[in-house]
Amino acid sequence: MKRYVNVVVLTNTGNTDQLYTYALDSSRNNLEGIRVELPFGKGNRKQIGIVIEEISEIPNYSVKNIDRILDSTALITPELMTIAKKISKDTLCNYTQALKAVIPGGIQLQPNSKKVIHVQTANYIRRNDGFDITTLSSKAKKQHYVLNYLKNLDWISEKELLADTGVSRSVIQELWNKNAIQKDNKRVFRNVIFPQLKYKKLRLNEEQYNAYQSVVNHKGKGIFLLKGVTGSGKTEVYLQLVENALKNGKSAIILVPEIALTPQTIARFSGRFGERVAVLHSKLTYSERYDQWQKILDKDVDIVVGARSAIFAPLKNLGIIIIDEEHEESYKSDQTPKYDAREIGEIRANYHQIPLVLGSATPRLESCFRVYQKDIILLELNRRALNQNMPDLSIVDMRTELKEKNNSIFSRLLYYEMQKALRQKKQIILFLNKRGHSSFVFCRKCGYSEKCDSCEVSMTYHQHAHRLICHYCGKTKIIPKKCPVCGSSAIRHFGIGTEQVEEYVRKYFKNARVARMDFDTTRQKNSYETIYKKMIDGDIDILIGTQMIAKGLDFKNVTLVGVLSADISLNLPNYKASEKTFQLITQVAGRAGRGEEPGKVIVQTYNPEHYAIAFSKNYDYHSFYQEEIKVRKIFQYPPYTELISVICSGRVREKVGWTIHYLYSTIKDLVKEKEDKIWIIGPNPCQIPKIKDNYRFQILIKTSGEIEFIKSVLRRISTNNEFKMDKKEVKIGITIHPGMIL
Ligand code: ADP
Ligand code: ZN
Ligand code: ZN
Repeated sequence: MKRYVNVVVLTNTGNTDQLYTYALDSSRNNLEGIRVELPFGKGNRKQIGIVIEEISEIPNYSVKNIDRILDSTALITPELMTIAKKISKDTLCNYTQALKAVIPGGIQLQPNSKKVIHVQTANYIRRNDGFDITTLSSKAKKQHYVLNYLKNLDWISEKELLADTGVSRSVIQELWNKNAIQKDNKRVFRNVIFPQLKYKKLRLNEEQYNAYQSVVNHKGKGIFLLKGVTGSGKTEVYLQLVENALKNGKSAIILVPEIALTPQTIARFSGRFGERVAVLHSKLTYSERYDQWQKILDKDVDIVVGARSAIFAPLKNLGIIIIDEEHEESYKSDQTPKYDAREIGEIRANYHQIPLVLGSATPRLESCFRVYQKDIILLELNRRALNQNMPDLSIVDMRTELKEKNNSIFSRLLYYEMQKALRQKKQIILFLNKRGHSSFVFCRKCGYSEKCDSCEVSMTYHQHAHRLICHYCGKTKIIPKKCPVCGSSAIRHFGIGTEQVEEYVRKYFKNARVARMDFDTTRQKNSYETIYKKMIDGDIDILIGTQMIAKGLDFKNVTLVGVLSADISLNLPNYKASEKTFQLITQVAGRAGRGEEPGKVIVQTYNPEHYAIAFSKNYDYHSFYQEEIKVRKIFQYPPYTELISVICSGRVREKVGWTIHYLYSTIKDLVKEKEDKIWIIGPNPCQIPKIKDNYRFQILIKTSGEIEFIKSVLRRISTNNEFKMDKKEVKIGITIHPGMIL
């Protein structure tokens, strides 16, 4: 029977939203969501398409035929198709790009693609129930033993059987010859979870139980913010919520910021639920990822743990979605489509009418704001699960150190505590928040740093122009020779990296075993795990690292954590700098004293009075929130306004500059009618003005309540290219609600 379908064609250039109509012969029930191979364009080149819908009316023009159907079951569910559509609308990308994000890499999108998926198979064995055991000679002891072993088992791989019983392969062969066993060649799923110990169920304490009950008793959809201090046992609450979902015949998605950085969470999930867990993350090979996706589609698993993109896992009967460390930037995609997994989580929770649980010790300001607006339900865990005290946090004023002739990167207190910890054979974590390119000017004597007068954000030092620039309003300043507050000439720009810290540490602590964990040292697969394991085994005394060691690690023997300079994050040229600082100190401090011994945290800074630092001393999120929300209101930052960033980049500086100016005036023109609610800032060079030989300029748009209108304007300019901009040499990148603006 001839049928007609609309497909999205997954071409490489794919700059189109268009659906194409094709014809095919098929008696299958459902065609939606399957991949097809089809002739495309003038040359009829073979391309892959995804069937979006079947249409009933016969087209009155000639339609090409689909060559063949590539999938036996739909790769993508109707729910996910709707989500792709929404992503394309919300993030201003085209439908093809959105679909590509929703379907995992590793599924062949292009015909003749080199990415061949290797399917592994192995021999599986089962006892043949029809076999009459009395016909087997009683002398064949080993054969009897194997048959007996197989009695209560289902299919078992030959390899496992040999290992379990210790017999040789010839014994199995004998049984096979006698028709006493059945064999089958079955698909083996590569195990991507490193072997795990069982993680036993814990009895919830009162706080945990109350949080658990609130979610379980809630009917229908609902967003929960599980705000629990570090070590309060949020994971156990997640685990039992998931268990409850499974008991009701449902499935679960658990998002973690970056799998490689959170091995403990995966370990706990697979340690509790074993084979029912699939893991999705970016460091999997294509084949591994394909395996995991198939397992989910085949309903072989009902729990998916993964990083950002796991939010698209094609589970059909979702019962709960959990997003751990909800404040992490990594939930927002930095590539097109720039979706936010937390928003997708809300959409899916809404679709399935199920709870969405956001967990953190330091929630996003926006999430907290929504608690006050009664849009999110707050659940609190205020005590550590094992009743340990929160680590003792000291703030060291580095200005005093300088005054007393200590020029080193270690304050006297930190140095002393490090020596003490080493003597006691304890482990130390030193933390340096390094955002490679950020550079600010500050006074070492009094802690003064150059901020923009109108925006309350730090100004960025631009080497190229030898000036300070505000990235929120574009004002510039020359670099002062003397500190305007105290007159000292010790005013300079700040820049020390983890590598240098490592050198210092090795110099001052000659006998210590030192390791460094940052982006450079962990680029390779498993390198993180290696350092992690060394840390667990006690083969490292001092671990130096960046943001990545701030996350959910649980090392029992770490008693001292040092934050070398809280100022780096405090002076990020970003309206979120204070929030980031508070989060970092709290998260890093959470790494200390997770065992029996109490922990100690030392935070070094030139700005001890700043509220983000002062309130972190007592882990006082509430007071911090009250201060910060005021600042946001005064300077009209989110959650009181919404931001959009538009970045132009390209190899020829003049062309990029010209394009961004053209964009600026075009946007300005188009939004004229709503001028009083829309502010257009820029164009400015980006904070990172050049990446990989591409010059970068940006415009920042701030609005109160007109975001949809701005999107429609940007869609006309960018996606539809109504103004015929040359997009070959200058790329335009639009980010709605940018996380960090770089
Ligand atoms: P969080 O994720 O909130 O920082 P964790 O989930 O890592 O905290 O829990 C901290 C420690 O407390 C872990 O070692 C965990 O096994 C333990 N724990 C959690 N809940 C309980 C409980 N109810 N009883 C005993 N130990 C618990
Ligand atoms: Zn000064
Ligand atoms: Zn400014």
